[in-house]
Amino acid sequence: MEELWHYIDGARVKGTSGRFSDVMNPATGEVQGRVPLATVEELNAAVASAAEAQKGWAATNPQRRARVMMKFGALINEHMDELAELVSREHGKTLPDGRGDVQRGLEVVEVCMGAPHMLKGEYTDDGGPGIDLYSMRQPLGVVAGITPFNFPAMIPLWKMAPALACGNAMILKPSERCPSTSLRLAELAEEAGLPKGVLQVVNGDKEVVDAILDNETVQAVGFVGSTPIAQYIYGRAATNGKRAQCFGGAKNHMIIMPDADLDKAADALVGAGYGAAGERCMAISVAVPVGEETADRLVEKLKPRVEKLKVGPYTAGEDVDYGPVITAAAKQRIEGLIASGVDQGAELVIDGRGFELQGYENGFFVGPSLFDRASPDMDIYKEEIFGPVLTQVRAGSYEEALELVVDNPYGNGTAIYTADGDTARDFAHNVNVGMVGINFPIPVPLSYHTFGGWKKSAFGDLNQYGPDAFRFYTKTKTVTARWFSGIKEGGEFNFKAMD
Ligand code: NAD
Repeated sequence: MEELWHYIDGARVKGTSGRFSDVMNPATGEVQGRVPLATVEELNAAVASAAEAQKGWAATNPQRRARVMMKFGALINEHMDELAELVSREHGKTLPDGRGDVQRGLEVVEVCMGAPHMLKGEYTDDGGPGIDLYSMRQPLGVVAGITPFNFPAMIPLWKMAPALACGNAMILKPSERCPSTSLRLAELAEEAGLPKGVLQVVNGDKEVVDAILDNETVQAVGFVGSTPIAQYIYGRAATNGKRAQCFGGAKNHMIIMPDADLDKAADALVGAGYGAAGERCMAISVAVPVGEETADRLVEKLKPRVEKLKVGPYTAGEDVDYGPVITAAAKQRIEGLIASGVDQGAELVIDGRGFELQGYENGFFVGPSLFDRASPDMDIYKEEIFGPVLTQVRAGSYEEALELVVDNPYGNGTAIYTADGDTARDFAHNVNVGMVGINFPIPVPLSYHTFGGWKKSAFGDLNQYGPDAFRFYTKTKTVTARWFSGIKEGGEFNFKAMD
């Protein structure tokens, strides 16, 4: 069993707390490693040396910092297969999905290669008589990233790339369930030219998270995870005077209009609902067909597609559709929620409980489940299941479908399938959700736009990556300057002795 480490001041460092968390192989149910859980003292020491390292990094001109991003991007590409394998080994997602995880993070690194442009600041010439104003964007200092298990490469990269390109040092606290990708990324960043100490990976649980939130040197916290923890971290960070953006959970709906191409909608729902075992914050977990006929036809189209899904370990090759869920507890919780759906009166069209795979009997696999005729008062609708379960809630009209999405407490992503531009436009305009897909199931914006939900899916201000990230990771200083007349008017040009 491998004992993992922290990555501090450019070296692999063993934990001193004596506390560890098991890192599982979700496909076999075996413990494959253990990750040290840092103490408050370890965290504070890592922050102190990051603060020292940050001074030199901030003084490095933006273009040179961008060159480190260029090299970092090249190294990520070069190590794509290795990184994808690290992702899949601890998370369980398929290798193509693991590659996608790395790729969507790499794209943010690519945007950060243009960081100097984003950091240029603003200038007003002659804002008053002889008065000029200019504003500059300066790094915050030491910032922290706290990330979830479900995207072990992408989300740490969303955090570290803009923070570092802006001249900050970062303390990264990855999920204790999938820490290895972050540890490897830190080594690659250093190989790319990042000075030692500028990116510190400190592993841990609540104890180290609280230490980050209470450390006075840490200026900002970027969090991604479940809603209750996002809200907690936002509150404690704000109380301690830190800048915080905390992204939480989701319940993403797709509305299917009667005029939609139902084959395309069904294909999209299967990919968006069951891909990565439903463990995506942008997964579609609720299908909302409009009209009974649309609903009946959609279920008919979904059923054979869902039944055909191949569930297996990432090692089984590229034709596996999705892998295990993250822990035994997650499997148990998901199966419990499926049971609650049955008890509360939803129609279970396909039951994924009790799924077993020969040779992987102890793995955390859950077969695909499909519910029809669910209603908003049921737990399968209210809870973020975060598993391979798609729930159909029938709506009588477009207005009823829209109201369902609007009334939902979460607001991460949503989608509509329709052939009518006017309906699509109305939906995009009126829905209170941060990311909207039109005939597009998982509308994760490209890296030069920004990513962020509304309502209980995000706490704080500014989105992740894109232009917002350069605002989040810098503070603005504005200078108002006036120069009094000097040598230009009435200067003394003759050489004479001083009185
Ligand atoms: P989680 O909230 O359990 O953990 C996230 C991070 O918080 C981890 O680093 C963990 O160590 C830490 N943490 C956990 N409990 C804590 C506590 N009590 N105090 C302090 N820190 C704590 O989330 P997860 O299970 O790793 O990830 C899945 C969740 O993340 C889902 O709800 C999913 O929707 C959400 N998510 C959201 C986005 C987004 O951008 N909105 C993206 C990906 C995942």
